[in-house]
Amino acid sequence: MPSLLIKNATVLVTMDDRQREIPAGGLFVRDGFVEQVGPTGELPKAADEVLDLTGHLVLPGLVNTHHHFYQTLTRVVPAAQDANLFNWLKTLYPIWARLTPEDIFTSAQTALAELALSGCTTASDHLYLFPNGSRLDDEIAAAKEVGLRIQAARGSMSLGESKGGLPPDSVVDSEESILKDSQRLIEQYHDPQPGATVQVVLAPCSPFSVTGELMKQSAKLARQYGVHLHTHLAETEDEQAFCLQKFGHRPVPYMQSVDWVGEDVWFAHAVYVDGDEVQTFARHGCGVAHCPSSNMRLASGIAPIKEYLAAGVKVGLGVDGSASNDGSHLLAEARQAMLLARLKEGVSGFSLSPSPSPEGEGENSPLPPGDGSGVRALMSARQALRLATLGGAAVLGRNDIGSLEPGKCADFFAIDLNRLDYAGALHDPVAAALFCHPVRADYTVVGGRFVVREGQLVTVDERALVERHNRAAARLLGGA
Ligand SMILES: [Zn+2]
Repeated sequence: MPSLLIKNATVLVTMDDRQREIPAGGLFVRDGFVEQVGPTGELPKAADEVLDLTGHLVLPGLVNTHHHFYQTLTRVVPAAQDANLFNWLKTLYPIWARLTPEDIFTSAQTALAELALSGCTTASDHLYLFPNGSRLDDEIAAAKEVGLRIQAARGSMSLGESKGGLPPDSVVDSEESILKDSQRLIEQYHDPQPGATVQVVLAPCSPFSVTGELMKQSAKLARQYGVHLHTHLAETEDEQAFCLQKFGHRPVPYMQSVDWVGEDVWFAHAVYVDGDEVQTFARHGCGVAHCPSSNMRLASGIAPIKEYLAAGVKVGLGVDGSASNDGSHLLAEARQAMLLARLKEGVSGFSLSPSPSPEGEGENSPLPPGDGSGVRALMSARQALRLATLGGAAVLGRNDIGSLEPGKCADFFAIDLNRLDYAGALHDPVAAALFCHPVRADYTVVGGRFVVREGQLVTVDERALVERHNRAAARLLGGA
């Protein structure tokens, strides 16, 4: 692969151990990996391709830890606009039952294109229904074409209505066929090497759509192959009530009872998790995919992110499926995470007798710094950015992405700072990316290859994709 030199970035954010933000920074990339990072003057002068990013902010590629690409076809469905999770699912399951393999491919391209334009370079996707011959292969093919890294989570549902589950029987599968296909996918696609573009994850959908036995068997299979495990957990009070009634446990103890705790497990949402359960996550190394927009959209609740970070739990961000967000803009999600954490943890008011913040201080702390005013600490822009990069990488179990350092994947994005959205905010361009209205990336590079250049997708024809996508969405909603 040709070498690539990035030079003269106004600021290049490394997210390395020293949290370096390099003025007039650059990168030298060879064979898809970062070889050198530093001030432009200290880098090689030539490469096969040289890109001068004067006036741009360069950030490590963002990592998305939870999504359902196919839901881009069912955004803003009128009957599901104002519903909470269970009613929303009940409305959408019959529509999703009409998905075809081509729909999976098209919707994955749309979601991945949006993600790329929002600075994302690695995305996990959770596909948990396979109607009409659909396969996980369909979205993996889409990711290869778009050029993003994918942690493709082979979802599953086996507990239909007739057995006391939530989904209609028409969208659930037999546990035997689920496990057989899971094994096939791992053997066919999973690449454990640094720089992998495809990794496979096993991901039974949720406590109310699979049996405990499938959870156990999936964990056993995943551990045989060393692949990760993912599911929805503790998303709503309804789910908590379901777990207590059906399994006699709250969601987290239920996970413990089916061998679903460990460094190789991450949970989407994790809103209804109490103090002891936070410690359970920390002790076992479980990760959390925090999806603030979805949790607000479905009125699910607010996850205890501050408690997770204080306990040392790995936290990444997820845009979640596009039927509950309804967009795939990861930089915008980082902004939501920052704002929602403030709403949950911040206390309004002003103290005349300053007292030191009782908890972690400074930008290197996982906790928001106190300002010494006695007012509780607020999540900073840089902490939100950390969740979206290194946090997500840790959740996915990848140490080859999330920062710009020698030896790491050459995954990054750049934003032109000379735009209306940032006018007046250039005292701190890094914070501006989070505080100001989220913009489209001007360049997105994955493993040294351009996916976005000068604000345009280079691997897919955006206009043609939108037309194809809208035709598929209209057909699905029309019931044809
Ligand atoms: Zn989800």
